[in-house]
Order: sequence, then C-alpha cells, then structure tokens
Amino acid sequence: MLGSLLLAGSRVPFVRRAVSGVPLTRKVVDRFVAGETPQDAVEAVRRLTGAGLTVTIDHLGEETRDAGAAAGTAQAYTVLLGALRELDLGDRAEVSVKLSAVGQALGADGDKIALENARRICEAAHAAGADVTLDMEDHTTVDSTLGVLRALRGDFPRTGVALQAYLFRSEADCRDLSHEGSRVRLVKGAYAEPASVVHRDKAEVDKAYVRCLRILMAGGGYPMVATHDDRLISITELLADRFGRSRGDYEYQMLYGIRTDKQQALAGAGHTVRVYIPYGDDWYGYFMRRLAERPANVAFFLRALGGK
Ligand code: FAD
Repeated sequence: MLGSLLLAGSRVPFVRRAVSGVPLTRKVVDRFVAGETPQDAVEAVRRLTGAGLTVTIDHLGEETRDAGAAAGTAQAYTVLLGALRELDLGDRAEVSVKLSAVGQALGADGDKIALENARRICEAAHAAGADVTLDMEDHTTVDSTLGVLRALRGDFPRTGVALQAYLFRSEADCRDLSHEGSRVRLVKGAYAEPASVVHRDKAEVDKAYVRCLRILMAGGGYPMVATHDDRLISITELLADRFGRSRGDYEYQMLYGIRTDKQQALAGAGHTVRVYIPYGDDWYGYFMRRLAERPANVAFFLRALGGK
C-alpha cells in the first residue's frame, strides 16, 4: 500500500520538488547512489571490483522528453566507458541503460532515436571490452525495448535485457530469450502497474519469478539472477544443480548499497556477483523505487530528515 503510494507519488511533479528540495535528502540518497560524477562512479567501481565483485553502471535518468538530453545521456555513457577502458576490467564491468533516457519516450521517432543512441553506447562499450544490458521500464515500453534489443543484437550479440517476473507476459519472453548467446537479467519488477498486466500479490510474483528462472536456467543463455531474496537465491542453486550449470554459467546481481553482506558472502563462495551502480544527479525516480520496495527505507528517510 505504502509502496504503491510512493510509486504513484514519484510521478507527481509537486512531490518530486518537495522530496528533492529537502537538504538532507542527499544524505539518504547516498546510501543507494554512488555519487553525481563519472569520477564518483569510477571510484565505486574500483572499490567494488577490488573487493572481488563485478559491476554494471547506470547513468541515472529516465523518461527524457528532449532529443538533446537523450544524446547527452549517450555521450555521458561514452565518457564513462572511456574511463572504464583505462581500468581494463574486461567483463568485470558493464553498463545498464534505460532506453527512455536515450530517446524512447520521444513520440513517433522515439524507438529510432533510442536505437541510434543505444548503438553509440554499444560501440563505446565494445571498445572498452564491456557489455550493455537494457533495463526494463514500465509495461508500455516492453515491446519497444525488445525490438531495440533485437536490432542491437545484430551487431552486438552480447547485449542483454532485464525481464520482469511480475508481468504476465514474461514467461513467454523468457522462453523467447532463453537461447544460446542470450543474456537475460531476471528481476521481480519495480513499477506501479495495473492489475491487468502484472501479478500484484507478493507470493504470486515470487512464484512467477521461479517459473521464469526455471526457463532461463534450463535454456542455453546466460541467466543474470537479480534479486536480494534469500529464498530465490537458494532456488537458483537447486536449479543450477538440476540443469548442470556451474558457477560461471550464471551470475547474481544486486543493487548498490543493498544487502552488501550477502553480496560479499556469495562472491566469497565463488559466485559472480554484479553490483548495479547508479550515479548522476537525476536520482529521483530510482530513489523512490528503492523507498517503495521496503517500508523500513521510508522510516530511515524520515529519521534522517529529523536529524537522527
Ligand atoms: P524483495 O522481496 O523486494 O526483497 C528481498 C529482500 O531484499 C528484502 O527483504 C530486503 O532485505 C532486501 N531489499 C530489497 N529491496 C530493498 C531496498 N530497496 N532497500 C533495502 N533492502 C531491500 N526492476 C525493474 O523493473 N527493471 C529493471 O531493469 C531492474 N533492474 C534491476 C537490476 C538489478 C541488478 C536488481 C538487483 C534489481 C533491479 N530491478 C529492476 C528491481 C527489481 O525489480 C526489484 O524491485 C528489487 O530487486 C527488489 O526485489 P527483490 O528481488 O530484491 O525482492
């Protein structure tokens, strides 16, 4: 209930101004966001890769309504990827891209602009030896995102995509994308969606996640299991045994600042654990989704505002 309110509020300009304008918000945001500049992101990359983790970096921003800003986001990624190239981390570092940040929301030409910008990012990533994974946003964007994925994979076959278990359609999408060479990040799903397209009940979302996971683990692709949920991690291990997958044949992914102890424990046990590192000044939508996922985060936020 609180989560739905926060997700709905995150799209109201007045709420955005109110939350962003509170001086102490930044302190709380820092728990989930690595900083504002590419240097901040690179610093987090150094720290986390130095601790045995791998990373995927997100330049924060979404629903861009301006073609110049969309091109600017692509440029920001190329600058970041230039810095990653110098670190020479190979596939230990990749980037995550929201197509709505690079033009998808720009009306009739949106898909074309997003594809052009995403292609520039893929070229820079290729030069840095890094992969690109497309984030998945609200349900109205799924067909467009999968279309852009198909087009990108022609030249950059390692391009991956996130699929959201809460969507009714995702089992079928997992089946389509479970072939050899395919990289799919499976997430529960983080947007406010109508009951006509998603499982709303938490237990139903978890069951749907397991069905999708089974399809991906049984298939020929590379599953990226993005969850902080212990039960789903245990089930992943059972499925890996059942389908004969060794540790290099799938990976875990978690968000920056969330369950860092678990991230280290899994990496210490020999798993590939990729931390999703967001950076940039457009943190609002991302931050609100993190608050919505866990009521305790709201209490933490309110305590910080109260100076405690
Ligand atoms: P939950 O049941 O929500 O959480 C399990 C446990 O994890 C909780 O009990 C708690 O201990 C911890 N936890 C979870 N969330 C938080 C939090 N915010 N703060 C503190 N503790 C928390 N969603 C999309 O819709 N599209 C995407 O492209 C996308 N990409 C993602 C990429 C990665 C690498 C990850 C990890 C998530 C991504 N998500 C994305 C978000 C995802 O959909 C979920 O909203 C989020 O991961 C929470 O679900 P969970 O599987 O961790 O399970």
